[in-house]
Amino acid sequence: MPMREDLGRLSGYHSPQVDVAVRLNTNESPVPPPAGWREALQKAVGEIPFHRYPDRAATGLREALALHHGVTRDEIFCANGSNEVLQCLLLAYGGRGRSAVTFEPTYALHSHIARLTGTPVIQGRRAADFTVDEGEVRRVLAEAVDPVTFFCSPNNPTGTLEPDSTIEAALAVSRGLVVVDEAYGPFSGRSAAALAERPGGDRLVVVASFSKTWSLAGLRLGYAIAPAPVVEALEHVALPYHLDALTQEAGRLALDFAGETEKRVASIVAERERLQQRLARLAVDQWPSEANFVLFRPLGRDGHDVWEQLLERSVLVRDTSNWPGLQGCLRVTVGTRDENDVFLSALEEVLG
Ligand SMILES: *Cc1c(COP(=O)(O)O)cnc(C)c1O
Repeated sequence: MPMREDLGRLSGYHSPQVDVAVRLNTNESPVPPPAGWREALQKAVGEIPFHRYPDRAATGLREALALHHGVTRDEIFCANGSNEVLQCLLLAYGGRGRSAVTFEPTYALHSHIARLTGTPVIQGRRAADFTVDEGEVRRVLAEAVDPVTFFCSPNNPTGTLEPDSTIEAALAVSRGLVVVDEAYGPFSGRSAAALAERPGGDRLVVVASFSKTWSLAGLRLGYAIAPAPVVEALEHVALPYHLDALTQEAGRLALDFAGETEKRVASIVAERERLQQRLARLAVDQWPSEANFVLFRPLGRDGHDVWEQLLERSVLVRDTSNWPGLQGCLRVTVGTRDENDVFLSALEEVLG
């Protein structure tokens, strides 16, 4: 039997994982999580009652996250990566007769997951500088039926931060949920979570991830900060015991190392600034970034060609050159100082 007909039109979401010396294509942290965290986890593993189902409510982890963000436990929902949070949001609030709204170019999984859940997608456009114009927010939301509106701040793959005013405009114009994906939030030092106190804040959902800023992409843990009724709806659609005991414990322990994580974030930000200064001397356009990656466009060169020539030098970046609105662009993750230097000299060589 063929799979669901509407799925056939959707190509999966893949970033090629090629074996190279310098891998700067998926925005992971270039450094492993704190050694102290690993030790604490090894100890904790000996105590986990693996013959029992995990705490379905993830009480300990949610309490720790609530404390970290100054909210209450019933305002936190946890899942296997923030992508599962997004999927639960769309299962609960999307579907036929509803819509998902994105402003392109942005994180491809917002519209992809929407379509997987049978939610029609309405795509707005970003301005030339990749910001979302408030007029565009009004125009797109006017035609959307019961929308779940997605923002990404800082935006992947452009690096731009979404101003509060844009998110407030979406909350004012629509009566649906407004979701702000903050997978890279801590790199910017900003969060839309504070807008929960403003009009429409009872429909605001902030989504966060352990994958980037916490150096824990291998763990698969993400969460939402949302009004309690939204959290209840998400629990309604999540599979029973979806979050295993090990992940709950690992995440809870990670929060004990928040100070170390902040230092790592600060050093990646410093390295990003150095990378951008060096890029400024090359024949590329680049966009200011508030994240751990930089979008750039080689001038007078075919983007895919440059990507291939970097790959020949064992440097893998993200080829975004044929994405709508990103013609000729490539996205590079901020790596270690050494990795960035290898990337920069390879790029220098390729650009001649
Ligand atoms: C990397 C990324 C995520 C992370 O997803 P996880 O499932 O938590 O690994 C979420 N949103 C955006 C925009 C990302 O770039």
